Amino acid sequence: MNVLVINAGSSSLKYQLVHVENHAVIAKGICERVGSANAFHKHGIDENEVVIDAQMADHDAAMALVLDSLINSDDAPIKSLDEIDAIGHRIVQGGKYFDKSVLIDDDVIEKIDELAELAPLHNKAALMGIRACQKHMPNIPMVAVFDTSFFQTLPPKAYMYPLPYEYYEKYAIRKYGAHGTSHRYISERAAVVLDEPLEDLKLITCHLGNGCSMSAIDHGVAVDTSMGLTPLDGLMMGTRCGAIDPAIVPFLMEHENLTTSEVNDVMNKKSGLLGISGVSNDLRSVRDASEGGNERAQLAYDMYSNSVKKYIGAYIAVMGGVDAIVLTAGVGENCEKMRRMIFAGLQPLGIILDEEKNRQRGFEREISADNSAVKIIIIPTNEEYMIALDTFRIVEESEIDRDI
Ligand code: ADP
Repeated sequence: MNVLVINAGSSSLKYQLVHVENHAVIAKGICERVGSANAFHKHGIDENEVVIDAQMADHDAAMALVLDSLINSDDAPIKSLDEIDAIGHRIVQGGKYFDKSVLIDDDVIEKIDELAELAPLHNKAALMGIRACQKHMPNIPMVAVFDTSFFQTLPPKAYMYPLPYEYYEKYAIRKYGAHGTSHRYISERAAVVLDEPLEDLKLITCHLGNGCSMSAIDHGVAVDTSMGLTPLDGLMMGTRCGAIDPAIVPFLMEHENLTTSEVNDVMNKKSGLLGISGVSNDLRSVRDASEGGNERAQLAYDMYSNSVKKYIGAYIAVMGGVDAIVLTAGVGENCEKMRRMIFAGLQPLGIILDEEKNRQRGFEREISADNSAVKIIIIPTNEEYMIALDTFRIVEESEIDRDI
């Protein structure tokens, strides 16, 4: 089955055409700066990627370009849109309604719209993607895959905030988490690498990219996660502050005369690695600056690793132990120095990194020492494949139901 995976952002449209049974990406690309005069479209895999300046007033126009390139570009992977069997959409916020991926119908669309209050930019963008697909491919089944649904298993003691209960009732303010598709994928793959059933394992999964989140997965069930009502909570990130004393917010608003949207901007776009180092949100630049003697860059590095370390400790306590710690995304997969700093000093907890394995490059692999009670594993994340797989399974099931 060929599944078109769509990840629509407020000004972007990312896509992959995946042949599920072959586990193969047969086309991919991204339309960026959708709606602005300098929009462009990147299409193609690795060295075959081409960048085309293109006018696209909205997501509908971007979708038309994407579909055209899938069937008409030089290396077009398919001859007609009939070769697309299903579409999988990444949706950021599924709220309390969606604890798993679902076939999209009018009711699902209405609920995604209703939940936009909790993730205004993201859910509205996803809806634009869905509507564009409905227009250009009205007969192809579509599935919604939510970033939050993996965390619907969290117990109330983990997802509630100690605020007046009425705000939960009135506004549904609670922890929803994010990056769920990635945490689900890497936990499933980790079980394969460990050659043990997921249901027998206590895992701590760490998605460390520009956005960072960690979760505690106890016998296959997510029991806690670091992101909250929004993806701002938890770990220090590229430009996001993560958890801070909430009293800092009114303090800054008063003393810096900031509006709510300005203070939101400070916490989301000017903090984290960028805010502390003053150099960049990109860990490679921060690392280079710290190695060149920049003290603030070194501090940013130290704070980032300390932030991950604290969640490791917390989640070991939450689960009463851990069998494996799983790392993914740009930093988790690639930065040996950050990994060294995260695991330094954790030997008393039975967590021992193998320095040599940590230096080696590769795909899915263990990097813990042979005498480490807790395994440390790297799993390159693949959210698109997970979305394609969910879509494949749900569409197949719905077709069987229809035949019966
Ligand atoms: P996102 O998808 O959240 O934008 P990524 O998963 O691509 O982010 O991760 C981006 C982060 O990964 C950046 O901070 C970048 O510096 C870091 N990164 C990528 N490659 C390396 C590397 N080889 N060494 C250190 N950091 C790296």
